[in-house]
Amino acid sequence: TQAPVNVTVTGAAGQIGYALLFRIASGQLLGQDTPVKLRLLEIPQAVKAAEGTAMELQDCAFPLLAGIDIFDDAKQAFEGANVALLVGARPRTKGMERGDLLEANGGIFKPQGEAINAGAADDIKVLVVGNPANTNALIAQSHAPDVPAERFTAMTRLDHNRALAQLSKKLGTPVADIKKLTIWGNHSATQYPDIFHAEVAGRNAAEAVNDQAWLADEFIPTVAKRGAAIIEARGASSAASAASAAIDHVNTWVNGTADGDWTSMAIPSDGSYDVPEGLISSFPVTTKGGKYEIVQGLEINDFSRERIDASVRELTEERDAVKQLGLI
Ligand code: NDP
Repeated sequence: TQAPVNVTVTGAAGQIGYALLFRIASGQLLGQDTPVKLRLLEIPQAVKAAEGTAMELQDCAFPLLAGIDIFDDAKQAFEGANVALLVGARPRTKGMERGDLLEANGGIFKPQGEAINAGAADDIKVLVVGNPANTNALIAQSHAPDVPAERFTAMTRLDHNRALAQLSKKLGTPVADIKKLTIWGNHSATQYPDIFHAEVAGRNAAEAVNDQAWLADEFIPTVAKRGAAIIEARGASSAASAASAAIDHVNTWVNGTADGDWTSMAIPSDGSYDVPEGLISSFPVTTKGGKYEIVQGLEINDFSRERIDASVRELTEERDAVKQLGLI
């Protein structure tokens, strides 16, 4: 068998962490041939709760789980990490200004970027889940100058999966028949789920839907505001679906997209589709052999252009704000 892969998870005692760790340990992140060692990072007050989760993980007797270590120090937690899932973040609380939110997260993601730079394995792959995810990823990346920038990604796979589910419902087709859907931009309410290049059982999805009003007034807002709808219904934010999307993101990154399909990942822009270079923005990507590539040459219509630009503008503003705060 293979040597164990070190997977560092931050915010391990949180809701998403609780839904995520058991799936990693059961082999769903990296596959049934790959043993994993979990390295859990928590703030000191939450270490005890993480220890409780670790006890439950042991009690599952997962054959692929080769060890669990718990830390309250980022340098130690990222030592030797091959995969890092950055889930812990400072959520926006009532009355908090955006600058305060970005500053609080700078205090988390700057030292984590430094720790990844100092001690992670050469093949480190980073997924940021904690919000504001794209900009948190940018902060971490800018403090890890020795790690290739493309290893820092943020999660829009949950948005992608939500869009698949809504489209599947609208057309009455299984999600498995839908390909080439794209989330563009920021993981926020400005994100743009694009079905103009999507295919449903081989047919163009926008043509199959043939309902511009549904697209503009139902589909896009439903996908973008799904998080709030879940809080409203459940009395707590989405956790299992976020964890599931994190598993999908890393699994696809490592194992590749299917022929004739792509996925959505927020990645450092190379300037494609007029997204300013360096911004961590969501794109259509194919993956192979642990590397991803932006799908090139898609024609962007005016409807899409306007929405991509609006989300990218928000990302630019967030970048300017963290720059001004000295966080990048
Ligand atoms: P959750 O586990 O529910 O969420 C964690 C983060 O994921 C939040 O920033 C949340 O953002 C974000 N997120 C991204 N996408 C989604 C989504 N679709 N649905 C829900 N959340 C999403 O938070 P908890 O408060 O339960 O747990 C956080 C844990 O992190 C705590 O145990 C805390 O101690 C820890 N923590 C650890 C740090 C560290 O290791 N250094 C630093 C800070 C916190 P949003 O809230 O905006 O939805």
